[in-house]
Amino acid sequence: MSLHIYDYLDGNAAAGELSKIFAVDVTAAEGQCAHCGATKRFAETHLYMQGPGVVARCAVCKHVLLRLVSIRQRVFLDMRGMTYLSLDTSQLQESNE
Ligand SMILES: [Zn+2]
Repeated sequence: MSLHIYDYLDGNAAAGELSKIFAVDVTAAEGQCAHCGATKRFAETHLYMQGPGVVARCAVCKHVLLRLVSIRQRVFLDMRGMTYLSLDTSQLQESNE
């Protein structure tokens, strides 16, 4: 399978899109890859934004961790590629930057 795996941004580029769904900064959250088990900050994922949505891939094994597509007023979020996403809720007490 041929894939342009070098043409990505880091996970921080998804902060704007993900802030539509999550009240906390997801790029600072830790997620575990369901394929290889690597646990990393979301900001470390490899982000592909060339398609109709956003695809985040594991920095270790390149498997898809998250897909996000906006269609009109609806956002579709596919997180099957992650075993879990661990969020720091202490951010909820902080004021918006
Ligand atoms: Zn992985």
